[in-house]
Amino acid sequence: MTTATCHCGAVTVSVAEGVPLALVNMCHCQACQRRTGSPFGSIVWVPDTLATIAGDTRSYTRPTDEGRRFTSHFCVTCGSNIAFVAEKNPGLLGIAVGAFADPAISPPRASVWEDHRHPWVSVPDGALRFPQGRTVPPSTST
Ligand SMILES: [Zn+2]
Ligand SMILES: [Zn+2]
Repeated sequence: MTTATCHCGAVTVSVAEGVPLALVNMCHCQACQRRTGSPFGSIVWVPDTLATIAGDTRSYTRPTDEGRRFTSHFCVTCGSNIAFVAEKNPGLLGIAVGAFADPAISPPRASVWEDHRHPWVSVPDGALRFPQGRTVPPSTST
């Protein structure tokens, strides 16, 4: 089992043994910039039946530019965004890559919303790059 943890440790997201942490993206959109306080957000998507959230969370849902809903779950104590549900990715739970604090996690397969990328943020070789939202399914891009 691999576990992601919020800043204070009160909330965890545990991923079942053997589930690859491979569907990683990086998103430069302004919502992710404000959500994270960082120039981009990075989320790994796993099957939602194979991940478990524990601890006290609240959630915030916003509409996306494509008119779908994107929900962030955050720790009520420290406010870390740790888990995500996107209508665009049915059956998947997103987990903040940074919450694993593990540099061995795969690099992003997709870089989205590059129209808002800070010019000093570089993108790993081989990542699919999109000026705005991803236009192909996550199984092939993120
Ligand atoms: Zn916390
Ligand atoms: Zn974003």
